[in-house]
Amino acid sequence: MEYDEGQGWHDPRVVPYAPMQMDPATSVLHYGQAVFDGLKAFRQADGSIKIFRAERHARRLNKSCRALCIPEMDEELIRRSFEAIVAADHEWVPRALGTSLYIRPTVVATEVMLGVHPAHRYTYFVICSPVGSYYKEGVKPVRILATDTHVRAVQGGLGEAKTAANYAASLSAQQEAERAGYTQVLWLDGVERKWIDEVGTMNIMMKIGDEVITPPLAGTILDGVTRASTLQLMRDWGLKVSERKVSIDEVMAAGRDGTLEEMWGTGTAAVVSPVGELAYKGETITIGGGKTGPLTQKLYDAIVAIQYGKSNDPHGWMTEVKVP
Ligand code: PMP
Repeated sequence: MEYDEGQGWHDPRVVPYAPMQMDPATSVLHYGQAVFDGLKAFRQADGSIKIFRAERHARRLNKSCRALCIPEMDEELIRRSFEAIVAADHEWVPRALGTSLYIRPTVVATEVMLGVHPAHRYTYFVICSPVGSYYKEGVKPVRILATDTHVRAVQGGLGEAKTAANYAASLSAQQEAERAGYTQVLWLDGVERKWIDEVGTMNIMMKIGDEVITPPLAGTILDGVTRASTLQLMRDWGLKVSERKVSIDEVMAAGRDGTLEEMWGTGTAAVVSPVGELAYKGETITIGGGKTGPLTQKLYDAIVAIQYGKSNDPHGWMTEVKVP
């Protein structure tokens, strides 16, 4: 589907996957107006196909558009675009346990021009790919490295948008972390360099004593759909959940005195990813004996059960794709 000024968004269509031709002066290549989202469709036990939280992903895509001066789309149309692409070939939603169809809606500026201003032409496309289970041998804890030398996002910046630039900004820190043997970077705030923001491709949560803590949505982190879903479940279960600022010092201290019981990341790819080790300024703490904690495992199991239709869906998160 394209956007042209005066015409709005037009010509939604499903076409065979093919390379896109671009003029070298296409604005996205120079000025970075690119936003996307990522969600999944799951094969249910009865063979039907359902998408997890399509509406919330559509809303977030529009929010990312607003942050990048890209004209918003009709959210109903975005949802229908997810369904149309999944239904185009329903056999590509895999059947094996743990597998799914990853859906990647993307908007890029396609005006041919050089000049720093919002483009007058955009292209929206959705691509899909079957994906295997993130965990081949069960949920496995990762090692993360808190960085105070790189900053991903600052207040007033684009941290809340799912835009290509945020990932570009994260690459060098991520590469350094990987070279040092860690899975992901833990980002701190850009001003005081002490408040925990999020991990590379996940939101972060921890249990200190009887309190589950996750950093608030204050403009620098992505409003993760898995974050919102796991928070909802924990509130349903009557747990004490705080969306509040939490400093790296508080977490390291809780790690040292043993009150940091569990830590995990949340995201569409891994669902819930336990953190077994956290390193900061040369010190490493082991969390929960380096094993997956009971709450982390319970959250993973609960979300996965909803996604595959193995438990009921009390909040109406799954929507069925009607296959012709
Ligand atoms: N933060 C960042 C930077 C991400 O890339 C992701 C993955 N989309 C998340 C958080 C988790 O968001 P979600 O649960 O919606 O996948």
